[in-house]
Formats: sequence, structure tokens, C-alpha cells
Amino acid sequence: MEWTDTHTHLYLPEFEADREAVIRRALDAGVRDLFLPNIDAGSIPSVISMANEYPKICHPMMGLHPGSVDNRFETTLQEIRNSLVEGSFCAIGEIGIDLYHDKTYREEQVETFTRQLQWAMELSLPAVIHIRNAFPEVFEVLERVWKPGLTGTFHCFSGNVHHARKAIDMGFFLGIGGVITFRNSGLQQVVKQVPLDHLVLETDAPYLAPVPYRGKRNESSYIPFIGKAVAEIKNKNQEEVAEVTTRNAKMLFFKNQE
Ligand SMILES: [Zn+2]
Repeated sequence: MEWTDTHTHLYLPEFEADREAVIRRALDAGVRDLFLPNIDAGSIPSVISMANEYPKICHPMMGLHPGSVDNRFETTLQEIRNSLVEGSFCAIGEIGIDLYHDKTYREEQVETFTRQLQWAMELSLPAVIHIRNAFPEVFEVLERVWKPGLTGTFHCFSGNVHHARKAIDMGFFLGIGGVITFRNSGLQQVVKQVPLDHLVLETDAPYLAPVPYRGKRNESSYIPFIGKAVAEIKNKNQEEVAEVTTRNAKMLFFKNQE
């Protein structure tokens, strides 16, 4: 079986001591492609060096995470943009709006998200969207700037069925992570009603580890636990879930390379 982790931060210091072993375990578990979302200007060198160290396995994205947006966002966006045009990236990510921890830079977050969505359309790259307590705001921006061809993922999808349908109608895939293995997360209902053709799998490592590792450091080799939960909910075998979600991920992120 071939799995894909569409969202993993293996370049972070949490993996400093055993990164090589973490990659080895992912490959042994059948997780062959790892997509690395950038966070801010400071994380760019780590993302790029990891992608260079593991070519054909680690695929870098470039973007500014909403949690890192502050009153210096113009300068940071310029640095992100410079890296974007200098290198080769599979997506604009991660970008979005996060009003869970702090609403101080709400306007700046909306502006940063809007600008990066425009880059995604200009460069024909998918957009990897982070949303926390901000579905209305994210849809408001998407409806304002969306043009045919824009695609991407709603990473670590946490919305309801209505949000899911709206995202799919706009050409997005839902990123399903460890939360699907938590009892009564509400996500089970969404996954039940959305066809496999619109789902991709992700760990968001080192965060949000699936059961049986809940609360521990997450890593990409845990993708099959997420795939197994999806298979049970949808009454399908794991082979089919692996095949379809991997095909979806490749179609999305490698569309410019074929
Ligand atoms: Zn992330």
C-alpha cells in the first residue's frame, strides 16, 4: 500500500534528534510522499534543506502561516515571495486565518491570506489553507478572489458538512488528520458524507497524533492509523483508501509536473 502525508512539519526542532529514523519509519509504513508546509520567514531554511536532503520524498511548500502574521507582515510576505520565485514549490502553504488564539491581527491575517491566494492563482499552485475559528472569514475571502483553476486543501478540516460541501464546490480537498481517530469528534459525520475523491490524508506532525499515540509527538508513519479510521467509517478496505487519497494528493500537488 502506498500512502501520502499531505501536511507534515518534520523539519521542526522536535525531530532534530531522530529525523532520519522518522523518515525511515514513514517509508517502512508505506508513506512515500511527505509534503512540508512552511510557517514563517524563520522556517524557510529548514524546509528547503530538508527537501534537498530527501528529494522525491519531501516536497516543500512556501507560505506565511496566519499564526505568524503581525504588524511586520509586509516585510515577511516579501521574504516569502522572494523564496517562492527563487525555488521550486508544490503549493502555497500554509496560509489562512486563525482567530482561536488571538484576534489582534485579524485585518492583517485577512490581507496576508488574500495576497497569498492571489499568488496561488498567478503561479497555478494549490493553496493549503489553515482555518481555526474562522470559517466565515475564510469563505468571505475565497468568494471575493476565487477564479476557476484555484484548488488546494482545507488542512486539518474541522468544519461541518455545510463547510465541507462549500469547500468541495470551490475545488478544494479536505485534509483529514488524527482527529478522525478521536471518539465523537464530529469529523466522522463529515467523512461519512463526503466521497473519498475529495479527501487527502495528513498528520500535521508533530501535532495532533492519532489514537493510539494521542497526546504524544506525531510523525508521518502514523498515516495508516488515520487511513484505517477513514476506511472503517466509509466501509471500504484500507487499500482503496490508500490508493484514492494518494492519487488525489498527487493530482493536486504534482499537476504542474506532468
Ligand atoms: Zn501545519
